[in-house]
Amino acid sequence: MKDIKALDEQYIAHTYARFPLRLTEGEGSLVYDEEGKEYIDLGSGIAVNTFGVCDKVWQKAVTEQLGRLQHVSNLYYSDPCVRLAEMLCSRTGMSRVFFSNSGAEANECAIKAARKYAAQTLGEEYVTIITLKNSFHGRTITTLAATGQDVFHKDFQPLTPGFVYAEPNDLADLERLLTENRCAAVMMEVVQGESGVRELDADYVRGAARLAAQYGALLIIDEVQSGNGRSGKLYAYMHYGVQPDIVSTAKGLGGGLPIGATMFNEKTADVFQPGDHGSTFGGNPVSCAGGVSILERIDDALLSRVQAKSNMIRTALTGAPGVEEVTGLGLMLGVKTTRPVGEVVAECMEQGVLVLKAKDRMRLLPALNIPEELLQKALNVIRGVCAKGISQ
Ligand SMILES: *Cc1c(COP(=O)(O)O)cnc(C)c1O
Repeated sequence: MKDIKALDEQYIAHTYARFPLRLTEGEGSLVYDEEGKEYIDLGSGIAVNTFGVCDKVWQKAVTEQLGRLQHVSNLYYSDPCVRLAEMLCSRTGMSRVFFSNSGAEANECAIKAARKYAAQTLGEEYVTIITLKNSFHGRTITTLAATGQDVFHKDFQPLTPGFVYAEPNDLADLERLLTENRCAAVMMEVVQGESGVRELDADYVRGAARLAAQYGALLIIDEVQSGNGRSGKLYAYMHYGVQPDIVSTAKGLGGGLPIGATMFNEKTADVFQPGDHGSTFGGNPVSCAGGVSILERIDDALLSRVQAKSNMIRTALTGAPGVEEVTGLGLMLGVKTTRPVGEVVAECMEQGVLVLKAKDRMRLLPALNIPEELLQKALNVIRGVCAKGISQ
């Protein structure tokens, strides 16, 4: 641990505040550090390891592809990406997919497409994209601009122009921005992940979809974190009864390999023409084979188990000593604790449970197939840590 810490400090750019933990292997929802200490993983590499670590079905799909062809340029046809795109479209009703390698890139693609679509349908001045305060859309200069949190903006000016920020759950504010600006799109996470795992009101999301359509602006839903079964539906927007024009996703789609996907509906499917956009690694056959294996298993039975485990967490934590609020959907939950969240996360880790932070809340993103007994064990630890020193 001392060696790796010193070398990391010396050679890795200082962008991450790491916990003092070196994970070396795992299986399912259990991971192990260098000394063999076991942890129940409720973070899944930030919603990436959809079926946990080294899941056998996923591993087989990925290694089979790895043994055939690890990469092919987008100058040629390739099966895994087409299969994955077909699955995504048939499961969502969307029409076409662009593949990239990360959430930020999936959002960049959505933003480029929306700007081009608006230029064609409304006029070249219709460039503004409305996003929400407290949103998170990525770390590139453009997706930072899309991110409605000042803390991420300072030091990196000038950001890409053309973004304005609406108050979440306030339709009047959204309509004001739609009238004051020439808008290409309204873009949102229906569950704001990074800023504390808060789901938007159903009336708001439906109202926003209606308003966007009324002003000719596209509705872009960022499902980078909430997508791929995590919310208890395949995509979280499906809880709201809206049909987006563009959907971006990433994190859990590859089950642990880098992938981003931007889906277009029939309105936006033809926006991009050859030369408009591209990605060398986009549609990588190994990542896409992983994606096919993940999506195949996110069926109604799995989704209802996700919902059942969500209820299990809510039941265990809602009203528990030291727990003030539980928010989110499915297995994407935020927990407001009375104790400082940093202490809670560190003590859970001490006691063999890995949880995440999102601003001032604890964030739980377990693997979708976490066994109930492991989840129960982890919840007992969390309850104990949250209750510590709290008088009832
Ligand atoms: C993580 C995240 C992103 C950025 O994804 P990267 O793969 O880190 O680029 C974008 N949007 C949301 C909602 C996210 O949670």
